Amino acid sequence: MFNGIFHIPKPENEPVLSYEPGSRERAELKARLNDMLANPVEVPCIIGGREVTTGDLVEMRAPHNHTQVLGRYHRAGPREAEMAIDAANQAKGEWSEVEWSSRATVLLKAAELLSGKYRQILNAATMLCMSKSVHQAEIDSACELIDFWRFNPYFMTQVYDDQPISVKGVLNYMEHRPLEGFVFAISPFNFTSIAGNLPTAPALMGNAVVWKPSSLAVLPAYYIMQILKEAGMPDGVINMVPGPGPVIGPPVLNHIDLGGVHFTGSTYVFSTIWLTIGSDIRKYADYPRIVGETGGKDFIFAHASADIDALVTAIVRGGFEYQGQKCSAPSRIYIPDSIWPRVKEQLLDEVATIKMGDVCDFRNFMNAVIDGESFKKISEYIEFAREDPNLEILCGGNCDQSEGYFIEPTVVQTKDPHSRLMCEEIFGPVVTIFVYPEKQYEETLELCDGTSPYALTGAIFAQDRFAIIKALKALRHSAGNFYINDKPTGAVVGQQPFGGSRASGTNDKAGSWLNLERWISPRSIKENFLPPTNYRYKFMEKE
Ligand code: NAD
Repeated sequence: MFNGIFHIPKPENEPVLSYEPGSRERAELKARLNDMLANPVEVPCIIGGREVTTGDLVEMRAPHNHTQVLGRYHRAGPREAEMAIDAANQAKGEWSEVEWSSRATVLLKAAELLSGKYRQILNAATMLCMSKSVHQAEIDSACELIDFWRFNPYFMTQVYDDQPISVKGVLNYMEHRPLEGFVFAISPFNFTSIAGNLPTAPALMGNAVVWKPSSLAVLPAYYIMQILKEAGMPDGVINMVPGPGPVIGPPVLNHIDLGGVHFTGSTYVFSTIWLTIGSDIRKYADYPRIVGETGGKDFIFAHASADIDALVTAIVRGGFEYQGQKCSAPSRIYIPDSIWPRVKEQLLDEVATIKMGDVCDFRNFMNAVIDGESFKKISEYIEFAREDPNLEILCGGNCDQSEGYFIEPTVVQTKDPHSRLMCEEIFGPVVTIFVYPEKQYEETLELCDGTSPYALTGAIFAQDRFAIIKALKALRHSAGNFYINDKPTGAVVGQQPFGGSRASGTNDKAGSWLNLERWISPRSIKENFLPPTNYRYKFMEKE
């Protein structure tokens, strides 16, 4: 037993390295990229700390170059899912008894390892496997994941610090127990930081986890497991089973010991998971906690007083970085007619300068979309835009999958504010613009609020303070992360806790104490120093 009350200092965000020509980090990263391309790996399932092979091998290829085989992974099935649940249940007992300080130090050490010797390994894996540029990988697989691992232990102490009041003769306290069952973490393809956070946030709070990474991002997941092992995460606390969602999902979701689901991904899959759990809710030992951050149809809304340079930069960076495959990427833009001619000219000029290609060529601003399925879906939206008389493709629109899954940055103008392109999540580099009459600012704010079922991120660009105030009010429930004169992507842990409502999720704010609270089941304890010794109350006494 450790005797001592110590405090985790408030962390600072990990600095973003520049990778400018001649820098040390650039040379290290290039070496790692070459090394990974030359040495494909074989990734096992990791269950109870053991490497489990299934022989059902799936190739991992770079989305921007079909000829680059990064390795193969052993696809898990229902058997491995069962093994992972058993391993989690076994590890749970001891792990949940470990003091919070020891659990915190595992993640704090993982953060140091990632900030140092693993930084370029995880960046290179993210770049090659998910087709991210160096900057996009650095802010994701390095900085954001390091921040999650440094800030969450700090937030945990805030959660534990929350204690009830006591009165004379009585001491009240709250024990922030982990959940009784195991947690099922299910991560998406597009962020290594989310992949690393989904299993570790519940584990930090004393839970054991079955983790199903995205089949499209198994390579970075494998290195995350290596970092956690080296940091001292005990065997069985996090069990990695890479495999198809519809195969791994049902046996885990239907298990009586399911304590919670920590999901990030599409709205459709999340609602399927919720339906599976809800369809037979009586079978569980406990009501499972369901946390899901899901899709978005994020907006940028410009007022006539907007700074046009800032607005155009936000559209280009927000809409096209990582090929628009961020849940937070703005893909519907509202521009007043008075400034549209200038915005249009500047936007099309800027987009024309964007370079797209292999991640190893650092001059490229954009790379490929994740896979053939995604390529097909995005191309179909572009085809729809070509054919619909309400829509006009202003630039881009070409798609080419001969070498990799490349889709040009595409700007579409719509006459119909309710077009499919203004309502549905495309998850690709397609930005649709609706030009509104300047005088109808307030009506168009209302239109923006009511257009799409999602409510994840959004931004207002205006210099006029009254316009900002009106937007804040009209769009109050339209976005869980709202930006004023900034692009709506790039939330930073500890600065902009992330999550949205409506069809965008349960809004449990990853990277804050709000999320950690979902992984505990508090026990209130009352200790009476002077318990009553007679059942009779004073009012019962004889007059
Ligand atoms: P996806 O929904 O296709 O997959 C997410 C995960 O769910 C994957 O691991 C997948 O294998 C798994 N899955 C699929 N079917 C399942 C089932 N029946 N049971 C259990 N698991 C199942 O999402 P994606 O394509 O990987 O990621 C893109 C989506 O994620 C977009 O919609 C994006 O907006 C969203 N996203 C949201 C946030 C956020 O914070 N709100 C962050 C990143 C991504």
